Amino acid sequence: MPLEIVTVPCLSDNYAFLAHDAASGQTALIDAPESGPILAELDARGWTLSHVLLTHHHWDHVDGLAAILENHPAKVIGAAADAHRLPPLDQQVSEGDVVEIGGEPVQVMDVSGHTVGHVAYYMPESRAVFTADSLMALGCGRLFEGTAPQMWASLSKLAALPDDTLVCSGHEYTQANAQFAITVDPNNAALRQRITDIEATRAAGKPTVPSTLALEKATNPFLRATDPSIHAILGMENADPAAVFAEIRARKDRF
Ligand code: ZN
Ligand code: FE
Repeated sequence: MPLEIVTVPCLSDNYAFLAHDAASGQTALIDAPESGPILAELDARGWTLSHVLLTHHHWDHVDGLAAILENHPAKVIGAAADAHRLPPLDQQVSEGDVVEIGGEPVQVMDVSGHTVGHVAYYMPESRAVFTADSLMALGCGRLFEGTAPQMWASLSKLAALPDDTLVCSGHEYTQANAQFAITVDPNNAALRQRITDIEATRAAGKPTVPSTLALEKATNPFLRATDPSIHAILGMENADPAAVFAEIRARKDRF
């Protein structure tokens, strides 16, 4: 049985996620932006946390943890590479490690770029990946610590997951990302359709996250650095995709 995944809006534009296994009762929280909405969601569902999976050390992904643990003394898991700047960890993980939630394997992927040490958690049986500030809906995280080639390698790894994988990312930045995306990919019909859908979703007050990997691969300019039509628009025909990615990221930073 796939895990039940619940999106929990936090702060002004963050998302945390709960992944619940009905059979065992185990529940994982992915990132802890603030305690209030997460505790309320757990309460409403009658769920008790067994695990917390942290993606990276930024305050808007960890600051709620201490208050959550007071009520839910769960096992806290995060990147070994970031153990010195994450809250205290019960288990340190690295690329290729596997943890289990309700008997389902959760694969740890190093997706450095936004920070060095950022990890994603992939649940192959539930067809979901928790990407926080690496791959985002129509975007990717800013390169605060890593290099463009590093982020390109991280995104390429994520892009290789099955198309029907649910992409559970960390922020509601999708409308702003869309305004930029159309400037580098103006002839993409799937992108135009997605922008129409995003506007309707946000007008209804609903989250645009999670998305699917198929949709991201078709419309997210940061995953389309291999596409000849984007190369042409950027005047980078036959350029290395990592260089095209770097150019797209630089343009987004100036946008
Ligand atoms: Zn961040
Ligand atoms: Fe963030």
